[in-house]
Amino acid sequence: MKSNQNILCVLYDDPVDGMPLSYPRDSLPEVSCYPDGQTLPTPDNIDFTPGQLLGSVSGGLGLKDFLERSGHRFIVTSDKDGPDSVFEKQLPEADVVISQPFWPAYLTRERIRKSPNLKLAITAGIGSDHVDLQAAMEHGITVCEVTFSNSIGVAEHAVMMILNMVRDFIPQHEYAKNGGWNIADCVKRSYDIEGMHVGCLAAGRIGLAVLQRMKPFAVHLHYCERHRLPKEVEDELGLTFHESAESLAKACDVLSIHCPLMPETEHLLNDRLIGAMKRGSYIVNTARGKICESETIARALASGQLAGYAGDVWFPQPAPENHPWRTMPNNAMTPHTSGTSLAGQARYAAGTREILECWFADKPIRSEYLIVEKGKLAGTGARSYTAGNTTSGVL
Ligand code: NDP
Repeated sequence: MKSNQNILCVLYDDPVDGMPLSYPRDSLPEVSCYPDGQTLPTPDNIDFTPGQLLGSVSGGLGLKDFLERSGHRFIVTSDKDGPDSVFEKQLPEADVVISQPFWPAYLTRERIRKSPNLKLAITAGIGSDHVDLQAAMEHGITVCEVTFSNSIGVAEHAVMMILNMVRDFIPQHEYAKNGGWNIADCVKRSYDIEGMHVGCLAAGRIGLAVLQRMKPFAVHLHYCERHRLPKEVEDELGLTFHESAESLAKACDVLSIHCPLMPETEHLLNDRLIGAMKRGSYIVNTARGKICESETIARALASGQLAGYAGDVWFPQPAPENHPWRTMPNNAMTPHTSGTSLAGQARYAAGTREILECWFADKPIRSEYLIVEKGKLAGTGARSYTAGNTTSGVL
């Protein structure tokens, strides 16, 4: 049993007008299990109301009462970057670090070196690329994430972005909002998705859910994966499998990216790959910003090689005000939000609590949640990640 632990938690800021006093809906829909049969998080208890804001500092992932009751010290901050940040100052004392990909506390090798007590890094969400996994393995740090917690939400967001861009929704909404009725302006870049070739780079939990959700739109579906999907799934969805990202990119009008950020996927979408796509292709990226070369994307939009780029992931995060993706033409970018809907927050907050309960009680953490354990990739990490580091360029 572990006691008197220092839990250092980095969360995004509260809303500028303070925490909501009410919410648009009174409850969240019931979801009994994830599509592959994996059970939802099973903590012994929760101390929060699902559907309320949990991912910001005051929400504290609903962990405060539980941790303080159990005698641990819980430090929550949004101040995460630079040597004078609260995060960096508290790290030397931290036993556990919790962070969300939306507002990542980058755990670089240098920071890990400064954290002699650190034994557990939890990603409240999915995607642990903000941790130098190589350094975590070398320092015996366990890395976990709450696998599947927000995958379906991200898939919904990707589908929304595909439709949004191909139909060119955002400018049309702007005309309506601003009192206009400029039909010709509205439709001069607007297409139907029907009949287009739509592909997913990776068909794991999110990518497969995107392919399933796109099928009713009468499109041709493609994918590229390290482990090919079962033939029944390919047949049911009418999928064309591609051995390489390049073959996939050449075939598609719309490419949606769903692989993890790892050394071999960093800057995978570079000049060569985007140059190989059809003129006027669209890219959706809800995976990680660093999978794409940022200047290449901006140039391809300016030249018309890409007709649109949508996504919610950037590098670094938060993105600087002058990041080229904020102002490049025909973009449909949002801050990193797709995985942190109120429903997503409830699930990954419960999953974080489950991981902590196991950790304190010296019980095994489910293998679905493990990325690194005992000095090597483990569980989901062993299947879907590769060793190495993708944090270079932060801070
Ligand atoms: P999964 O692990 O289920 O899927 C990832 C898939 O990528 C796996 O099937 C893996 O294959 C495959 N893969 C790995 N490398 C390659 C490659 N080089 N080419 C093709 N396929 C590859 O994870 P999820 O679907 O749940 O999440 C995917 C990513 O989405 C996360 O890693 C994260 O970065 C991002 N994400 C973003 C969120 C957001 O809010 N925007 C929220 C949640 C996740 P295999 O396992 O067969 O080796």
